[in-house]
Amino acid sequence: RTKGEGRNGYRFYEAEMDERIEARRALSTDLRGALDRNEFLLHFQPIVSREGRVRGFEALVRWKHPKRGFVSPAEFIPLAEETGVIIPLGEWILQQACATAAGWPGDISIAVNLSPIQFRHSDLPLLVISALQESGLDASRLEIEITESVFLEATPAIKTALAKLRELGVRLSLDDFGTGYSSLSYLRRLAFDKIKIDQSFVRDLPHEQSGAAIVRAIIDLATSLKMTVIAEGVETEAQRRCLLSLGCHALQGYLFSRPVPADEANALVTGQGLRRQTIHAA
Ligand code: C2E
Ligand code: MG
Ligand code: MG
Ligand code: MG
Repeated sequence: RTKGEGRNGYRFYEAEMDERIEARRALSTDLRGALDRNEFLLHFQPIVSREGRVRGFEALVRWKHPKRGFVSPAEFIPLAEETGVIIPLGEWILQQACATAAGWPGDISIAVNLSPIQFRHSDLPLLVISALQESGLDASRLEIEITESVFLEATPAIKTALAKLRELGVRLSLDDFGTGYSSLSYLRRLAFDKIKIDQSFVRDLPHEQSGAAIVRAIIDLATSLKMTVIAEGVETEAQRRCLLSLGCHALQGYLFSRPVPADEANALVTGQGLRRQTIHAA
């Protein structure tokens, strides 16, 4: 904005802000009733082995807004966190994801994203136990994904919850690795099973030298700590090849599949068609 715009420019800016604040307010009002109106659903994105076999899925929540259509979780999850809706919503996601996965073959896992807010305001180990019991899913098939921001306040309570989850046999993944504040010592102390390299590092492969160096360093470190490394946001064949050559253990991204509704995920793992479990052979 140039000086010449003066007060009018400023007023325009103010009006725009008001509009945006109003839109957010309207959306969070809608969000409050959305769970009761059954407007949420889960999509599932395959996570594949180096050979292209489906090893599991990540559950990704979708909100089908009656007027606006699908609203992105990048938009409504922060709102759900601010308003507290994430607590009942997160519980529903966990139950729904476990129930769906219980219908898959026994070697297929399910990864569920948890919000740091849930660690603060829910008894997560208890929620996980009841979701596993109700669905009949084995704990070893459930993975919990948490982002590094959970460590902004790695309180004793959070550490205890993580330790309890591991005792149950649930696996822990550190999501969006490299974007946040995690220190390498967290990786060791909190005993994660997996780390997911954020797609911002994958995007520039294989052309970006420094990107490849970072990815290589992450994979080497994780491997020496006996952790599995998953790359997210794999979109091209060149990225896939580069990640494999760097030693990445598992891959996820549009190259293999977009997140799909439950019935399509079921079809991918229950042996329909010749491509059973092989989405993109090496
Ligand atoms: P995330 O957990 O890192 O999930 C990966 C996101 O990357 C998903 O976006 C997925 O659709 C997208 N993605 C996957 N492959 C590719 C690719 O090849 N290229 C590109 N450009 N994108 C790809 P989505 O579904 O919009 O979710 C965004 C974020 O919202 C998630 O990031 C996660 O932080 C949050 N989220 C989604 N579902 C849940 C949930 O059930 N609970 C919680 N607490 N958060 C969720
Ligand atoms: Mg995730
Ligand atoms: Mg991620
Ligand atoms: Mg991400």
